[in-house]
Amino acid sequence: MDIDFSKGDGLVPVIIQNNNTLQVLMLGYMNDEAFKKTKAENKVTFFSRSKNRLWTKGEESGNLLLVKDIQIDCDNDTILIKAEPKGPTCHTGSTSCFKEETSKGFLYELQETINERIDTNDENSYTNTLYRRGINKVAQKVGEEAVELVIEAKDNDADLFKNEAADLMYHYLILLKAKGFRFEDIESVLKSRH
Ligand code: AMP
Ligand code: ZN
Ligand code: ZN
Ligand code: ZN
Repeated sequence: MDIDFSKGDGLVPVIIQNNNTLQVLMLGYMNDEAFKKTKAENKVTFFSRSKNRLWTKGEESGNLLLVKDIQIDCDNDTILIKAEPKGPTCHTGSTSCFKEETSKGFLYELQETINERIDTNDENSYTNTLYRRGINKVAQKVGEEAVELVIEAKDNDADLFKNEAADLMYHYLILLKAKGFRFEDIESVLKSRH
């Protein structure tokens, strides 16, 4: 992986994407030293043009970007990093420095929220409470929601149908989590049949 640092006064642009949702989080610059430090520590370190020094994202806020994958573009002058953000990436407190349209989709954001409620054992969360009642209970809820959807399918109320479809999708994501899977795993099965 040889990066061409010659074009921009020793700096190359670096695009940061959320490893799970593929949402674009921010853009920064790295020099050779920042790139080496990023690879060595697995935490994104930029060269800050305003601070004029190496800047590890999250060094003050704790909102680090943990490196999951590094890609160099076709002519070796731009870096794409997929990272796991340890908090909001933008200094304004937003998830991303860009508006949400660039994400993989709301379904994946919902999956992240569900998994976070469970992984942090959030006691105020319905999602986590249901999850803690065990896999049989979660599976039973999926069954109930599926039946409710079937009932609404026979009826003609569009709003009720859409709401039950949403309920099923939400509980289905909790069941996937309870079985140790992600929606991407199911997507792979669907793709392999295609
Ligand atoms: P942090 O690296 O999150 O500890 O933030 C330290 C400082 O870096 C903040 O006070 C901001 O000045 C700046 N900063 C943090 N995040 C960003 C960002 N996404 N884009 C530009 N500047 C940032
Ligand atoms: Zn390029
Ligand atoms: Zn920002
Ligand atoms: Zn329902």
